[in-house]
Amino acid sequence: MVKIIVSPKCTGCETCVNNCPSSVYDIKNGKSVPARVEDCIVCRTCESQCPEGAIQVIEVEMEPAKVEKPKVEDKKKKTKKKTSLKTPRAKKPSN
Ligand code: SF4
Ligand code: SF4
Repeated sequence: MVKIIVSPKCTGCETCVNNCPSSVYDIKNGKSVPARVEDCIVCRTCESQCPEGAIQVIEVEMEPAKVEKPKVEDKKKKTKKKTSLKTPRAKKPSN
C-alpha cells in the first residue's frame, strides 16, 4: 500500500502531473492532489522531480492477517497398548 503526502509547499507547477508515469496527480485549486494513489508504482519520480520537495511517497506495510493459533490437543496422554513380551506357554503334552 502506498501513501502520498503533498505538503503545502506545493506551488502547482504541474511537474509531478507531467512526469508521473501512472497519472496519479491532478491539479485542484492550484495544488497537486494524488487522486489515483492506487495506480502508483512507487518509481519516486515525483519526489525527485518536485522543485519544492513537497512530495513524500511512503510505502505502508499491510497489517498481517491474524492467524488463529491451532487448537492444542488434549493433554491426556494417549495410552499405548502394552505389547506383551511374554512368550506363549508351551502346551503340556496331554497323555
Ligand atoms: S511538482 Fe511539487 S510543486 Fe509542482 S505541482 Fe507537483 S507537488 Fe506541487
Ligand atoms: S512514485 Fe512514481 S508512480 Fe507514484 S506518484 Fe510518484 S511519479 Fe507517480
